Amino acid sequence: MMQKGQYRRIRKQLAIILLFSVLSGLFLSIDASAVITTETHNFESTSRTQYHTVTFTAGLQVKEVTVNTGNVTYSVNGNQINLTLTNGTITYTGTPQQQVSITQTSSVNSFPSSIPYSAGGYSGTLYKVGSSYVYSGSPAGSKTATGTLNSTSWIKYQWNGSNWVMIDSYSPNNPTIPYGPDAEGFSGTLYKTGYALIDESGSPPSNPYVGQTYVLYRYWIGYYSGTVTKPDTRIYGQNYAGTVYGPPATYYQYTVTVKTGPENELLYWEANADITNQIGRWDGSPSVYIESQLGGGQGTNAVATGMSLWNSALGLSMTIASSEDSADIKFYVASRDVLLQIHDWLLYDNSSGMTDNTDKQLIGYYYKDNIEKLGYQMEKDYNVIYSCIVIIPGTTDLQYQKIGAHEMGHVLGWFGHIAESGNIMATGSFGIIPLSEREIRHLKQFYDMA
Ligand SMILES: [Zn+2]
Repeated sequence: MMQKGQYRRIRKQLAIILLFSVLSGLFLSIDASAVITTETHNFESTSRTQYHTVTFTAGLQVKEVTVNTGNVTYSVNGNQINLTLTNGTITYTGTPQQQVSITQTSSVNSFPSSIPYSAGGYSGTLYKVGSSYVYSGSPAGSKTATGTLNSTSWIKYQWNGSNWVMIDSYSPNNPTIPYGPDAEGFSGTLYKTGYALIDESGSPPSNPYVGQTYVLYRYWIGYYSGTVTKPDTRIYGQNYAGTVYGPPATYYQYTVTVKTGPENELLYWEANADITNQIGRWDGSPSVYIESQLGGGQGTNAVATGMSLWNSALGLSMTIASSEDSADIKFYVASRDVLLQIHDWLLYDNSSGMTDNTDKQLIGYYYKDNIEKLGYQMEKDYNVIYSCIVIIPGTTDLQYQKIGAHEMGHVLGWFGHIAESGNIMATGSFGIIPLSEREIRHLKQFYDMA
């Protein structure tokens, strides 16, 4: 139990307001460009559960990832987002199709107007595109080619005492030589058209004796010419194209929307009353002490309802504190007079609940549409937030639960109110309803930025 004077509380608030004014002035030059980039990515597969990776601009922060059907979970690694898509509804059951283009070749320049296609599970008919053409090779042809052949002849002479007499000889006879194939593919036979003596060697020895021999060598070059030919080596090509069809299957299409922006850029702002430009978060899941003087467990239940709603909305796991002293959040349900004895909160005559969240740290300046927002953090085991529900006769269980959920929102950093009625964080007397997406996302975006 605590009791403090009103004056001290007012002094403390004045001091905080002055401090914020000074800090705001100092940091006004911080870049306040409000840029949120929205990109959509479409995926289609026969698998209901799909894994995909998309990239975003390095240096930015992922603000939100949503999917048009089913669920999306993701992890960020550098400037990549690894997506897991599950539980999407069947988008359509149909036959997949592909456009296929192929080229057929043949040594004969004749192609059918259409050909069947079957590959990779797809089949169909492909049709001619354009005319056939020479894919490789060249037509038949002839040309005149020339060549040479070197040869050697010899004559053996013998001394008979007075003359050198030819006793043996050899003269090669090469009327034709083969040609090719050359680099162009020509080949054939060349015929001798002439010849010439290039050189000779061997001469009679001086002072020969009878029977002595010597050999005279002659070196020739033969000239050849002829018509050579090459065969037709043409391979013809014909292009075909068409639409081919795969087996009918069930497809799941997901459209994933990724929003990125600067680190201090907020995606949403739903608070428009009271302290509109402040938002807070706990640095973990706080513990809650509940003390209720409302009979039948109704007060405890009202606070527990608020804990449960916000636990699931923000992904927290708030627990009941083991003692009042150790609690991060101290929640009291009592009459107005008793509550004023417990804590020095600013309870108006008609207050149904109140949260004193002055105990928090300013952690930074954030922006939404170029409007500066003050970001706060409540530290577990250091900051203490006081909250209460006022027992007012005639209040129903559901109304107490709404008050509990509303005050728990303030406790968790939802400063101010949402304007539209029909929200837990709106003012007004009504029973418990689910938290709306708008009021959840307002606070969750700030918890997600931690
Ligand atoms: Zn309120």
